Amino acid sequence: MSTRFVILGGGPAGNVAATTAARLGADVTMIERDVVGGAAHLWDCIPSKSMIATGRAISRTRAIGGMGLANVDTAVDVDTLTRRIAAIEDTMSGNTTGLLRSQGVRMIRGTGRFTSPNTVAVDTVDGTETIEFDAALVSTGSRPRIPDWCEPDGDRILTTRDCYPPKIFPESVTVVGSGVTGVEFVHMFSSFGAKVTLVVSRQQVLPGKDPEVAAVLEEEFMRRGVKLLMGARAESMERTDDGVVVHCDDGRSVRSTHAVLAIGSIPNTEEVGLDAAGVEVDQWGYVGINNHCVTNVSHIYAAGDISGKLPLSSVASMQGRKVAEHVMGGHTRSHRHLDYDKAASAIFTEPEIADVGLAEAEAFSSGRKIRVTKVPFSSTAKAMINNDTTGFVKIISDPATGEVLGGSIVGRQAAELISVIAVAVTAGLTVTDLAESILVHPALSEALSEAAE
Ligand SMILES: Cc1cc2nc3c(=O)[nH]c(=O)nc-3n(C[C@H](O)[C@H](O)[C@H](O)COP(=O)(O)OP(=O)(O)OC[C@H]3O[C@@H](n4cnc5c(N)ncnc54)[C@H](O)[C@@H]3O)c2cc1C
Repeated sequence: MSTRFVILGGGPAGNVAATTAARLGADVTMIERDVVGGAAHLWDCIPSKSMIATGRAISRTRAIGGMGLANVDTAVDVDTLTRRIAAIEDTMSGNTTGLLRSQGVRMIRGTGRFTSPNTVAVDTVDGTETIEFDAALVSTGSRPRIPDWCEPDGDRILTTRDCYPPKIFPESVTVVGSGVTGVEFVHMFSSFGAKVTLVVSRQQVLPGKDPEVAAVLEEEFMRRGVKLLMGARAESMERTDDGVVVHCDDGRSVRSTHAVLAIGSIPNTEEVGLDAAGVEVDQWGYVGINNHCVTNVSHIYAAGDISGKLPLSSVASMQGRKVAEHVMGGHTRSHRHLDYDKAASAIFTEPEIADVGLAEAEAFSSGRKIRVTKVPFSSTAKAMINNDTTGFVKIISDPATGEVLGGSIVGRQAAELISVIAVAVTAGLTVTDLAESILVHPALSEALSEAAE
């Protein structure tokens, strides 16, 4: 009899685990209460990046004079934008469902919870079904964190999930939280012409990122007229007749028509019956896992945001793949551990920001010797052709061996270009490997080859 594998949650972690395990011969059941594709499709990656892409089209259109064209209208049609986002989400979810179906995965629309270490109960519109399993994956994702000092109302005080579809474009917005999600929302709203204030609890946006990279973004925000409240912690929000006032702990307050909370997320682990299965969670509700994503119960796995690792769709998918391989015994062959330190990530602002592997500050604080080479895009023909010379490529390598250890890219298409450095970091390639690869001319990737020299 083939391995009975049950998955709770059909986001990137769950659906990749399902298709991979089914391909390897498991008898897979995936339970999803909402939309196949998960929050990633419905609330997070797809709608935010679709709105940002429209914002980017606006800013490029505004700069069109420099390309030798006459200016064109950049007014936004909210209905068309809303339909566009819905169409992308539908297509993505349809593609994922089609793939799962083609691999013979049984999909159940309902809410699942463990009732013992080997059974899951699923509540569906037709009643409750009990399913027995040999191995299970919990990949129920996360939701926006809401602090106790404010109550989102979906009207003026918004979580990131209240921003789509865009019913209206706010006249002015205060964004609380200057991590990746916060800066992407600042960028998005300012692209659509809103007056934006960002409440930054530290002295730098994107805490933890390379200060040089954060500085480029701060400069761009200031150029766009975004007000940065540095070193301020929001501590309460007050609704007024026509907006919101955000009060900070240093006595400053900001008035705007809307406020958006972007202060992280919390795992969906409370209502999944983890106790009944004997699966332990930490003080924040995350499920602890080992290198193979195995929980403290040896046949139950956890992946995606609930595992408390990097909260990225790309990481969740890779964890799902590794879980499936482990469940099906693939770890005895060429199965490699997932190395979270080698995950590439990007911030979809203008300029785009992307990085992977070892950061300069990290190397300095650990006393590791590194070689840093930096090349500005202004030195490449393609950046001039694009009429956008902002940004740079930075490669960090081992001075003794030349091994590529990491890198950051700021500028147009940084999220695409970082893939080259990510492959080098994962495969242990050297700067010579990069420098001697014959790349396209004219292309932004020429800055990569130069930085590898
Ligand atoms: C605004 C925003 C933008 C983002 N943009 C990006 C990006 O550009 N790139 C990127 O890599 N990451 C991005 N992320 C992060 C990314 O969305 C998450 O890391 C990713 O969705 C995590 O995948 P997951 O499989 O853990 O969970 P999810 O995608 O959250 O899926 C979990 C699924 O489980 C279901 N579920 C929950 N409980 C149950 C239950 N009891 N029974 C059945 N089903 C259940 C839910 O309905 C959901 O569909 C973004 C996050 C935010 C907030």
